[in-house]
Amino acid sequence: MEKKTVKKTSKKAPVEKKNLEPIVLQTLRGMKDILPEEQSYWEQVRRVSERLARDYGFSRIDLPSVEFSNLYVRTIGEGTDVIDKEMYNFTTRGGDKVALRPEFTAGICRSFIQHGMNVLSKPVKLFSTGPVYRYDRPQEGRYREHYQANFDAFGEQDPILDAQMIQIAHRFMQCLGIKAVQIQINSIGCPTCRKDYLNLLVNYFDSKKNKLCQDCKRRLETNPLRILDCKEDKCVQVAVTAPQSVDHLCEECHVHFKTLLEYLDELDLPYTINPHLVRGLDYYTKTVFEIWSGSEEGKKFSLGGGGRYDKLLKNLGGEDTPAIGFAVGIERLIIEMKRVQARPYKPMKPRVFLAQLGNMAKKKSLRLFSELEKNGILIAESFGRGSLKSQLKVANKLGVEFTLILGQKEALDGTVIVKNMTTGVQETVSMDKLFDMIKRKLKADNVVVYHNGEHDTHGV
Ligand code: AMP
Repeated sequence: MEKKTVKKTSKKAPVEKKNLEPIVLQTLRGMKDILPEEQSYWEQVRRVSERLARDYGFSRIDLPSVEFSNLYVRTIGEGTDVIDKEMYNFTTRGGDKVALRPEFTAGICRSFIQHGMNVLSKPVKLFSTGPVYRYDRPQEGRYREHYQANFDAFGEQDPILDAQMIQIAHRFMQCLGIKAVQIQINSIGCPTCRKDYLNLLVNYFDSKKNKLCQDCKRRLETNPLRILDCKEDKCVQVAVTAPQSVDHLCEECHVHFKTLLEYLDELDLPYTINPHLVRGLDYYTKTVFEIWSGSEEGKKFSLGGGGRYDKLLKNLGGEDTPAIGFAVGIERLIIEMKRVQARPYKPMKPRVFLAQLGNMAKKKSLRLFSELEKNGILIAESFGRGSLKSQLKVANKLGVEFTLILGQKEALDGTVIVKNMTTGVQETVSMDKLFDMIKRKLKADNVVVYHNGEHDTHGV
């Protein structure tokens, strides 16, 4: 036999690398892990959003979370907080100036144009969900990475679509068990009527400039509409008597808004007109809206918001296509669900446990588990445990109704012991009869066999 040459390893201790920064074993500020125990809330939100998307005719679209920075700058607009203060900008190794998405609409519009979706039959309704990034000051309900569910519809300028979007946003909350919400709505007009309105507004605020906060003094130059929703007390005072956009709409915008309100009345939706609602982003035209939590005590949150952006596609170089969209913030929905004690998703629990005893049975147990799973039977196990006693303990803790016991003898003669955990009665069944028998037993009290989604009564 050939002799192996073994390289002698040096006895010297490895040289310690100096100047290594310690790894901080923590999430970044403003970001969080969504742990398994939180997932029942997230799952409920996912289910509701996907169901509503399907029911209202939206197709799902998933986009990269990084785009060229100037896509956001050109759509959301300079002078907005999102662009000026909150974007995660960076330059790639290849020299591209890119940003983590601070919202969905800009990317969706880019995709709509890139893939020629204007030829599709209108309205083109798109649904997406995922994380967005804003370098904001973190606090409760305000994160640097948060998740949104986003609905956009392209190619329809009729206000019935505005009403439908508000209806969906409202339904979203209702389906989650968040009943007391307030819909705030406003119209900020189109570029034509807004020009005159902005002149009025600037004149008004200019005459009271010394009463505005530093930020608003700057906004007077960059984005005067934003002064209307400044939260500083002194600016709020000044804004109370500011001219309101709804009083200065052109005929087309006026009729659009009036018709929308008629639809909302028809739907009995609890809306209020908020003349100070402008939304932070530049691209909105006509309708803007937000849905607020109805909390009496404590902080009120905006749970979601959106509006029309009829000019955005054209401004980006696409065809002139009216559009409307909204996004809800999933973390805030979950905060609100917990506050009102809304029901999270309840995953189905296994009602059968598979125990194995001895080497041969252990070897066969993985295959048996898989066969049960293929037959649609949700099953629990604790394969790492050796003794039957400790496995039965787990089965009891899980509250299963039946435990299948596969021992040495059963493994040899192709049978399984089925133990009824309530009565303690055991019967031996041949493997080829097992699946039918278990299904029969589980269905006996009218409950579910796992894979058949339609039996899932916990959903929405
Ligand atoms: P916006 O378009 O900024 O109104 O965002 C839509 C929704 O996302 C808001 O109504 C909030 O529910 C949520 N949201 C916005 N910013 C944050 C944030 N920093 N952290 C958590 N949720 C947010």
